[in-house]
Amino acid sequence: MKRIIVALLLLLALPLGLAKAAEKPAADKLNVVASFSILADFVKAVGGDRVEVSMLVGPNGDAHVYTPAPADAKKVNDARLVFINGLGFEGWLDRLIRASGRESPVIVTTIGVTPRKATETGGHGHNHNHGSSDADPHAWQSVANAKIYIANIRDALVKADPDGKADYEAAAAAYLAKLDAVDREIKETVARLPPERRRVISTHAAFGYFEDAYGIDFIAPQGVSTESEASARDVGRIINQIKKQNIPAVFLENISDPRLMRQISDETGARVGGTLYSDALTDPSGPAPTYLDMMRHNLQTLSAALAS
Ligand code: ZN
Repeated sequence: MKRIIVALLLLLALPLGLAKAAEKPAADKLNVVASFSILADFVKAVGGDRVEVSMLVGPNGDAHVYTPAPADAKKVNDARLVFINGLGFEGWLDRLIRASGRESPVIVTTIGVTPRKATETGGHGHNHNHGSSDADPHAWQSVANAKIYIANIRDALVKADPDGKADYEAAAAAYLAKLDAVDREIKETVARLPPERRRVISTHAAFGYFEDAYGIDFIAPQGVSTESEASARDVGRIINQIKKQNIPAVFLENISDPRLMRQISDETGARVGGTLYSDALTDPSGPAPTYLDMMRHNLQTLSAALAS
């Protein structure tokens, strides 16, 4: 009797299950990992409901100095695909993949991007933990490059989950149109800034691709390490640099110590423009929970500081 009731319940449940087929239960989703928050946002934009995305370095995290946790090895082990930036960004990844005990297919999302050389500044540069590569890894800071990431993600998802081809292609096309729109916005906004004011000092040399694409110069503070506490001498150097190069604004990033920059702006009159987000998104309550939000936030912050 009991068995018959169970069978009847299963029969009843069947059409309900079919009706809900459009919304895939978590177990049916393609389980993937993205190495950091910006990439996870890209993968979600293309993967939509078919894909379950977990990330290694979360919002506000610093991928340069990341130390993987045991839980990360499990995430990699469980994943059908591992999406990474490449260009030496994830120096800790090879060891993590070895620790996961499995040859997970790694998708390098910057394939097809023309790498620029990492900026060397005053002998220290941006060399937190970029491994041996001398390419600048921050390729996503140009929207034209973001479009390459999206195409690579789409192709990898279609290959891993051919049934979702139409969904992935439609989602990618819609997102590429949004990227085109934000790219236009950045170009139009920068064009309205006085050309002599299109220069800023920033501690984190992450905006080289942005600089090349949109024509705002990001100048690193000369001879100052971002790894150690700034000395009175460092501060003096930067103040001289700002005065000599007539730089209208200095910026803070969410992963650098802001105190030094504040002190400098007090003494030079250069504007502290606010926070630019470079390597990580914010959590949902912050100003940059998605890539599109991040690019628009940075644009507004820059244009507010650089408009005359
Ligand atoms: Zn960086």
